[in-house]
Amino acid sequence: MTPSTGPGGPCGAPHDTDCSEVLERVFFFIDNELPTADFAQIQAHLDECGPCLQKYDLERTVKTLVQRSCAERAPQGLRDKVLLRIRQVQVEITETRLD
Ligand SMILES: [Zn+2]
Repeated sequence: MTPSTGPGGPCGAPHDTDCSEVLERVFFFIDNELPTADFAQIQAHLDECGPCLQKYDLERTVKTLVQRSCAERAPQGLRDKVLLRIRQVQVEITETRLD
């Protein structure tokens, strides 16, 4: 009876870092808020652990979507200016044709 493998994970492969530990810190990993040593540790785990990588991808995708939907509110004024400019150009073209 010799424990031949480490902590292991959902994928069944042995890992230096426990999966639950990685998933707890994956939010900080996405935000780049981890010390370099921890960052490298999580990165190494994601490289070799499919289930954790999937979870990380999902969290990152959700975070990106949220950030994008927030960012779209900002350039509303710019959008109006562009639309106004397009209408002005259309009027100019119309007037040129009438001449
Ligand atoms: Zn894992």
